[in-house]
Amino acid sequence: SPLASLADAGLLKTDALIDGEWVGHASRFAVNDPATGRELAQVANHGAAAAEQAIAAANAAWPAWAAKPAKERAAILMAWFRLMQQHADDLARIMTAEQGKPLAEAKGEVGYGASFLEWFAEEAKRVYGETVPTTDANKRYLVLKQPIGVCAAITPWNFPIAMITRKVAPALAAGCPVVIKPAEQTPLSALAVAELAQRAGMPKGVLNILTADGPNSIAIGNVLCASDVVRHLSFTGSTEVGRILMKQCAPTVKKLGLELGGNAPFIVFDDADIDAAVEGALASKYRNAGQTCVCANRLYVQDGVYEAFVEKLAAKVKGIKVGNGFEAGVNQGPLIDDAAIAKVESHVADAIAKGAKLLAGGKLIEGRFFEPTVLANATSEMLCAREETFGPVAPVFRFKTEAEAIAAANDTEFGLASYFYSRDIGRIFRVGEALEYGMVGVNTGLISTAEVPFGGVKQSGLGREGSHHGIDDYVEVKYLCLGDI
Ligand code: ADP
Repeated sequence: SPLASLADAGLLKTDALIDGEWVGHASRFAVNDPATGRELAQVANHGAAAAEQAIAAANAAWPAWAAKPAKERAAILMAWFRLMQQHADDLARIMTAEQGKPLAEAKGEVGYGASFLEWFAEEAKRVYGETVPTTDANKRYLVLKQPIGVCAAITPWNFPIAMITRKVAPALAAGCPVVIKPAEQTPLSALAVAELAQRAGMPKGVLNILTADGPNSIAIGNVLCASDVVRHLSFTGSTEVGRILMKQCAPTVKKLGLELGGNAPFIVFDDADIDAAVEGALASKYRNAGQTCVCANRLYVQDGVYEAFVEKLAAKVKGIKVGNGFEAGVNQGPLIDDAAIAKVESHVADAIAKGAKLLAGGKLIEGRFFEPTVLANATSEMLCAREETFGPVAPVFRFKTEAEAIAAANDTEFGLASYFYSRDIGRIFRVGEALEYGMVGVNTGLISTAEVPFGGVKQSGLGREGSHHGIDDYVEVKYLCLGDI
């Protein structure tokens, strides 16, 4: 097993963490390596009862955690940050084993994930209130910011660590305890990070993590949404599930943070540095085998540079080495499951049936490994224009004018990430302002970092994670009116 060689075997946990205790269950579910199909571990399969216990534990831990000076909460987050750095190799191994991404990419995610702990440890000390100039000589106005209360987080498998720390770090920094339900495909990374939180001195009940298979995840989700004690739910995942959770949270009018699907356009104008655009497209499209919500989904290339761009892109894509993420030199691992393969295959078949030209890849290699693919002559009638492929397929559309590119890019219900390449400063402002997206990468395919606000418009979600805005969701603004002065 790829997990046999961990430097610290104590990071391999298979039970849930509730109120500071590792809690097993008679029912367990298998976590498999997507590269080999082999079983890695049997993890405790908790349900509604454990969710109730975790919520109660978090609620009991809340007053003491909220009352701690921010500096003390920050010290625990910083200790956790350092432990993640020290154990980066083991965390990356666990991640590659259960998620499939190449080891170097997994290590990159560990660093990215840990950076939220450092950032929000710093921000914890800067949750400032306000004094408002009075309009009545006998009154004074104050604005306090207080922790919202028990927070729940439901996270996906594509970034098994970073999607947890991006939610949990601001919650903890603000003084809120958390209950986390990681994806059923990747609980081992989540549990390893939770073990490090324990070692960092996290008080019992402040950080709880519930493990469950698919059906039990739904049961736990029901309890988290219905609870009056849970004041905020943060979810990263599909738009379909986001809608379900939003509906389930309506009866308790729960505050929500949602990071949902994207359908990122990647536009190359004829004044762009074409080689740089090809590199950006490679980074944005094929990272994590195309399984990120900010992956370029539709490439729009202007007429004059279309042929040159697709030729260069296809040549580079043929050089991508696909294989087990533990093998040296591999830059694309397996897709997460058979449903992911089926979706990619259907998008490729549909595009070819509607006239796309296959310039690279196009088929399953074996198991869950899919060839990195480039499709030229893509059109708006194809499935890949409307839906997020979530795989290593780049459909390339042709356009003539700037206005046409902007209209096509915005013609979607999603609005998470977008990208474009141009060296014309006027165009950079025009297009940057016209794209209806929460994030715009200009002359770069990689935009994520803890210091900036990550999030979407339209049906891509609600709220922003990371940056100084990332803590806003986890505090309530309270107005204090002092009379009789
Ligand atoms: P993906 O398509 O990337 O697997 P999902 O949106 O299905 O994304 O899943 C993301 C997370 O949401 C996972 O932790 C999963 O267990 C959880 N989940 C899926 N369906 C529900 C549901 N109905 N209620 C609560 N959580 C759910």
